[in-house]
Amino acid sequence: MRQTLPGSPRRSGDSPLKIALILGGILAALLAGLWLIFKAISFLLVALLPTSWEAAIGEAFAVHYLEESGGQCPMRAAEAAALKRLTAPLMTAAELQDVRFYIADNAAVNALAFPGGHVVILRGLLDTATSPDMVAGVVAHELGHVYHRHSAEGVSDQIALWAIIETLTGGSGLSWWVLDLAGLAGSRAAEREADAFAVEVMHTSGLDPRALADFLRLIDPEGASGASGGDELINLLSTHPLSNERIEAVEAAARKAERAALGARDWTTLKDVCD
Ligand SMILES: [Zn+2]
Repeated sequence: MRQTLPGSPRRSGDSPLKIALILGGILAALLAGLWLIFKAISFLLVALLPTSWEAAIGEAFAVHYLEESGGQCPMRAAEAAALKRLTAPLMTAAELQDVRFYIADNAAVNALAFPGGHVVILRGLLDTATSPDMVAGVVAHELGHVYHRHSAEGVSDQIALWAIIETLTGGSGLSWWVLDLAGLAGSRAAEREADAFAVEVMHTSGLDPRALADFLRLIDPEGASGASGGDELINLLSTHPLSNERIEAVEAAARKAERAALGARDWTTLKDVCD
C-alpha cells in the first residue's frame, strides 16, 4: 500500500495527458492517412486522367478565369482569322491539335496555359508586345506547357479536389474556391522545358526564337531579377519565373527569321481585338 501511494497521484495525473496524446496521435495518423489518400488520388488523376476530362476541367478553369479577369474579348471574323494565322503554324510545329485560345480583356501582361490545351492570352500582352513575333514566342512557350502537361501537374491537387467535390455535389459548381492560380505558376525546370520547346517550335515555323528573349527583356528590364512589379492580377513574371539563364538560353538559339509571325494588317487587327 505504502509503495503504491507515491505512484497514485502520478498515475491519475498522467491519465488525461496520456489520453490526449493517444487521441492526438490517432487524429494525426488519420489526417496523414487522409492526406496520403488525397495525394494518391491527385497523382493518379494526372497519370490516368482521360484527356477528355482534362480538357473539360481545363476549359471550366479557363472560362472561370476569364469571368474573373475582365471577360473574354469578343472576336469578329477578321480578328479570329488573325489569331489563327499567328497560332496555327505554331500548333503545327508543336504537333499539337485541339488547343483553344482565348483573349481576356485584362491589362496584365501574361498568358496562361490551363490543363487540356486551353490557353488564355491577356490583352496586356498584345498591348505591350512590339512585334507579332514576340506574341508568337510567348504562345510557343505556352504550347510547351501544354505539350508537357505542366499545368495539369501544377493544379493536380486542385483538379483532384475539384473532381471529388464535383462528383459529390453533382457538379453544382460550388468548388470554384479550390482554383488557385498559384497552381499554374511554373517551376524553373518547367519554364526551361517550355522555353526549349518554344525554341524548337519557333525554328520549325520559320521564326527567330530571339523574339521570346526580347519580350522577356522588355517586361523585365532590370535583368531577370525575378522581382515582379505590379500586382495587377497576376503577371507573366510571377507565373513564369524568369532568370538570365533562361533569356540567354533562348538567345543562344537565335537565327534569321524566314517570315514574320503576322503581316502588318493582321497584327494591327489582333492588337485592337479588345477595343
Ligand atoms: Zn511558362
